[in-house]
Amino acid sequence: MHAVLAGLLDLVAPRRCAACDRVTDLEKAVFCRACDASIEDYHGVGAVFEYGGPAADAIRRFKYEGRSDLGRTLGSRMADEAGVWAGRVDAVIPVPLHWRRRRSRGYDQAALLARPVARALRVPSLFRCLRRARNTPSQADLPRAERLRNVRGAFQSRPLAGSPHILLVDDVRTTGATLCAATDALRAAGAGEVHTLVLAVRLLGGAT
Ligand SMILES: [Zn+2]
Repeated sequence: MHAVLAGLLDLVAPRRCAACDRVTDLEKAVFCRACDASIEDYHGVGAVFEYGGPAADAIRRFKYEGRSDLGRTLGSRMADEAGVWAGRVDAVIPVPLHWRRRRSRGYDQAALLARPVARALRVPSLFRCLRRARNTPSQADLPRAERLRNVRGAFQSRPLAGSPHILLVDDVRTTGATLCAATDALRAAGAGEVHTLVLAVRLLGGAT
């Protein structure tokens, strides 16, 4: 009953911008026209946006303001970018939070982003495969060398039989240290190729 009701509300509720929450008339839009116009798309493989402006607002709301529902809309934008890996990866794996942080947040944002990506690629999302063994301090405030040291050996993976090709999914990439550490863990567990896809790239030296 609840699911049906939620589905109906989904149909009649106005679509709201992921960044500013204004109602938008754009169909299937993540952002309103104003926000969409000021978003910097990332021109390269492996990311959707440059971090900043409305994209950063949306990510902040998604991660820190309890808006787990934004995972579906933001994840579907990532799914649009994931087409280059269609038929080339065997599974999608989200970069996990440490369980303690997941418990305090109530959800694991990368797992929510990975779901629409996996669905689009018609492969499973293996959200229990990779595990953050250490609760590392937040990367956001650390310089690059510290970040590398901070996350080295932070991840462990269950064994991956048959050298599967993996698409690793996370929300934001800054130095890539976290993705590197997660990739190392997957390779050590038997993964073949490991590709990475993030929602936003934080360009060093850029604003915010
Ligand atoms: Zn907006």
